[in-house]
Amino acid sequence: MKDRADWTLEFVGYVPEKEGLRESLCALGNGYFATRAACPDARADEVHYPGTYIAGGYDRAWSVVEGREVENEDLVNLPNWLPLTFRVDGGPWFHIDDVELLDYRQTLDLREGVLHRDYTFRDEKGRTTRVRERRFVSMADMHVAGLEVELTAKDWSGNLEVRSGIDGGVVNAGVARYRALEGRHIDVIERAALEGGDAIFLRCRTRQSLIQIAMAARTRLMRDGKLVDADEETILTHDRVDQEIDVKVDVGTTLTVEKIVVLYTSRDVAISEAGLEARTRIRALPGFEALLHAHRRAWRHLWDDFDIELCEPASPDTEKKLRVHIYHLLQTASHHSFDLDVGMPARGWNGEAYRGHIFWDELFIFPFFSLRMPTLTRALLRYRYRRLDKAREAARAAGYQGAMFPWQSGSDGREETQRLHLNPISGRWLPDNTHRQHHINSAIAYNVWQYHQVTGDHEFLYAYGAELFIEIARFWASIAELDPALDRYVIRGVMGPDEYHTSYPGIPPEEHRGIDDNAYTNVLASWVLTRALEVIEMVPRNHRTHLCERIGLALSETDRWDEISRKLRVPIRDDGIIDQFAGYRDLLELDWERYRAKYGEVFRLDRILEAEGDDVNRYKASKQADALMLFYLFSPEELERIFAHLGYDFSRELIPNNVDYYLARTSHGSTLSGVAHSWVLARSDRPRSWQHFLRALDSDIDDVQGGTTREGIHVGAMAGTIDLVQRCYLGIETRAEVLHFDPALPDDLGRIKVRIRYRRQVLDVEAGHDRLCIESLPLPCEPIVLAYRGRFRELAPGARIEFELAAASPPR
Ligand code: BGC
Repeated sequence: MKDRADWTLEFVGYVPEKEGLRESLCALGNGYFATRAACPDARADEVHYPGTYIAGGYDRAWSVVEGREVENEDLVNLPNWLPLTFRVDGGPWFHIDDVELLDYRQTLDLREGVLHRDYTFRDEKGRTTRVRERRFVSMADMHVAGLEVELTAKDWSGNLEVRSGIDGGVVNAGVARYRALEGRHIDVIERAALEGGDAIFLRCRTRQSLIQIAMAARTRLMRDGKLVDADEETILTHDRVDQEIDVKVDVGTTLTVEKIVVLYTSRDVAISEAGLEARTRIRALPGFEALLHAHRRAWRHLWDDFDIELCEPASPDTEKKLRVHIYHLLQTASHHSFDLDVGMPARGWNGEAYRGHIFWDELFIFPFFSLRMPTLTRALLRYRYRRLDKAREAARAAGYQGAMFPWQSGSDGREETQRLHLNPISGRWLPDNTHRQHHINSAIAYNVWQYHQVTGDHEFLYAYGAELFIEIARFWASIAELDPALDRYVIRGVMGPDEYHTSYPGIPPEEHRGIDDNAYTNVLASWVLTRALEVIEMVPRNHRTHLCERIGLALSETDRWDEISRKLRVPIRDDGIIDQFAGYRDLLELDWERYRAKYGEVFRLDRILEAEGDDVNRYKASKQADALMLFYLFSPEELERIFAHLGYDFSRELIPNNVDYYLARTSHGSTLSGVAHSWVLARSDRPRSWQHFLRALDSDIDDVQGGTTREGIHVGAMAGTIDLVQRCYLGIETRAEVLHFDPALPDDLGRIKVRIRYRRQVLDVEAGHDRLCIESLPLPCEPIVLAYRGRFRELAPGARIEFELAAASPPR
């Protein structure tokens, strides 16, 4: 990547081994659908992986693995709308890997959401052609995409044939580890040339979920801005449709091929039928330039609200990387998602890793949206609310009350975590126990609480949030058991965010039943139970009565919540180190140096040890921040309060020791880990925090996990870096009806400028090392209360407040 401008991600030179990574990084999307940045002339092979996915477009399939039948739900790879290639005088069709490239440059314009590919090539006959390509997935009209290819015949004249198609012969094969599983998810059911001759149509249906997807593509040739009258032919084959256009080209002339695509599905609202809509729209749409204009405008509007400026001495490169992250978040979820029934997938909609499923990563993502486009968080939270009944069923089936949300969620909200996973190092299929991460429930409750804090959206709380909260509290109250010997409540058989510990040592994998009293899980459960009581009080009496009647909530039940919230067990050692879980202190220390010397990076230490016949469960070794997540989610004041409520003596002075302890024992096998660690170091060791931040910024751009980004970007880590800037470096906290700031900028950052929304006010915030300035845009809304380290000020719309900043605050 070249450090040139702040708004472009640029790659010079075509590197086949990097194609997969670039396809994910330069993918285009609008919250409704996304397309990987594959070459238009490519089909899926070892180098290329064209992929188009609609948000929430899932399908189930059965596979046989090791003689066992397993069911998985995948994000479906849809027909490829990109195909566009050409040939001269009946020669071979252009394919990038078959020609001599004389130059090549690929640029993603982040500001405009446009991907450019420019190159010159020489073919087998020595003819030189210049290609200039632009494409977009419209942020203005969510059903539309455009691809434009300009071909200049540098030193030849001849007959040019252009072939433009829609390829329905695609399967899910983007993740090598999943290739032994069933990858066929669609059947092509219709292919046609549309009346008028310049457009084609393809309809397919997902095999199990029966979603119909209709695509239409219109390809036109232009010369000097005018339509070229050319011979056209449509070719229908088994699962694709192509249009071929013949035209004479003279040396030195440029021909422009313009392909406009529309995509509709049977899940769309405000349509009669997807196919009808696609056929009608494709005829009515204007040309590439007009569509691009509207698309650029839509992105400009988004950037007005979402940009973050990192001022000197931060390098422009750092700022740009942050923009890459903002850009990807917005193409995963945008205003187009408001009316969709979708959650926020951990890996975006541009790759097949984790099958498009929704995890706890929302915890890292929602603060970004809530402070800028709260309607979007509301829409994404409603994805959870719609699946509350499924979560109730899951709790019941497991013998609990309330709602037990799945660790991985897809279409209908059942548990989608795979039952077996492949260790690519040992080649063994192993039981997957990650569904024991019930802490996902607290993440959902936490997200509801934070959303309400930022927006004051009481209607949401009454209609959805309170019920979600109460059912999650009920779940914790029912899974917690009183241990009479300890006189404490314990929660057994869970997993914490650190996914390495699936069991106590010495137990065969098929009998792994999780660990007990994960500190993170129990503290969060206590927090949920306490807050749930407050939430109930916040609901107006008539709503409350109705809600309690409807879900059968009695006072006797809530009395128990208070008791459990005070008596959950958190294993803390005498020296103040929070044990990750009960019994953690008895595990062995790992010889990290030995493993690093042998394997280099040990991100997936679990796989390495399993392949060696060992078991990571034996060691004090974590994949990612676990106990330390407590410091990520709660300010020191709040944490002290929670521990005091639990009857433990824990003060903020103990935080740095805990941070050091776990940092030395973490492999960072998840990209989320860098974010959490940068955060917890921010107040105690700013240079180290900054290093973790920079590394988290590079997670996808440099594919630091060695090849995972080609399977889809990591949305949680991307959002986490932004969250670091706003909630950690700016110290933004929304608590008790007050918007708190406590900036602590790393030395490498001069100033931060952001625009946020809080309680209907729009605030331009600028913070440096000495001064914090907050300016509210004039809007018809109520004043809000701001605070900086206990100094409270009221801010009316249109007014401005400045705080002189004191020295760095103590650890938080
Ligand atoms: C992490 C989880 C995360 C998931 C999806 C896993 O590798 O361990 O914490 O939710 O990826 O991003």
